[in-house]
Amino acid sequence: MPTARNHRLIRIQGIDVEYDWSWFIILGLIALTLGQYFQATNATWGQPTIWAAAAITAALFFACVVIHELAHSFMARAHGLPVHTIRLFIFGGVSELTKEPEKAWSEFLIAIVGPLASVVIGAICIGLARLGSAHAPIPAVLYWLGWINIFLAGFNLIPGFPLDGGRVLRSIIWGANGNFLSATKWATQIGKIVAVLFMVYGVMEIFVLRADISGLWMAFIGWFLLRAADASWRQTEAKAALDHYAVGDLSSPFYQTVPPEESIEDYFSAVSEEHNFRPSMVVDDQDRLIGVITPAELRDSDRMRWSQLRVRDLMVPRPRLVTVSWQEGLMDALQKMAMNNVSQLPVLGEDDRLRGIIRRDRIIQVLQNSLAH
Ligand SMILES: [Zn+2]
Repeated sequence: MPTARNHRLIRIQGIDVEYDWSWFIILGLIALTLGQYFQATNATWGQPTIWAAAAITAALFFACVVIHELAHSFMARAHGLPVHTIRLFIFGGVSELTKEPEKAWSEFLIAIVGPLASVVIGAICIGLARLGSAHAPIPAVLYWLGWINIFLAGFNLIPGFPLDGGRVLRSIIWGANGNFLSATKWATQIGKIVAVLFMVYGVMEIFVLRADISGLWMAFIGWFLLRAADASWRQTEAKAALDHYAVGDLSSPFYQTVPPEESIEDYFSAVSEEHNFRPSMVVDDQDRLIGVITPAELRDSDRMRWSQLRVRDLMVPRPRLVTVSWQEGLMDALQKMAMNNVSQLPVLGEDDRLRGIIRRDRIIQVLQNSLAH
């Protein structure tokens, strides 16, 4: 989902590569570290060569991450799961799959092809580097790129969500037991164990093994993996629960209607008499929704004119309303509510007639009930 913080960098074969600003921090850090590394290992280069090599290597590294993600995306596309966006952030990249693969084999291939691409890039870089002298700038850049790609493949194969290794693990368990949910549960549990091991090792490195702060990185990666494992399990569980129902299953036929021609005076005295300030659906004589009105819409109107004003004059008209279709999924309905900051939506049938309303608390209730089992 494009957010205010994401920016498009480039578009490749219909896939937008986006980044947020955290990516620049990591890119800058990599260039800095590389500069220091080249300075220490190739003292004869001179400052301009060192920093040019550092900047070029950092940019090429970035291109390698994009190739890794493109490999995932193209494999996903080949398995019928279109990918529109690759997002680059502090830990690398994520290909945003529009939906989960339907077969364990598809998931396995989509997950494994990224690290595989990194290994191939790594091997090519190291092979090319060997052709030149180790202290010339180009082979030095290629060596570093080669090893960092191998490292990238290894890191991504850590069996924790949302890393590729977590998906590979899930696809293997899924293929073996045929149950996506239980495979996800197993894979996230194993991911949590790995995450805790990272954290324990990181803390040990800080206090026991080395007594410096390099262990912070390990501890931080562990913490990130732990949170990600938790989040992806909850998301999968919630999605599974919500996938059981469509909007139509949970929509309520009990809602208040008001004819468009009713005067504001009558409308207001009716709602205040009943102390019922919920939105009223404004429908025409064919049951088609033409607007929604709540007492809030009367706020700026002149009270003296309420007997002449009609509901039609003050309602929020249909073009400005957010509605949901009878057959849409609950997840879509929740997203629409969240994006528009409302707690209920009118539900429309295929004929555009109003069929009910759906409330957020009802969806949450169903979700809680299914998760309680
Ligand atoms: Zn990957």
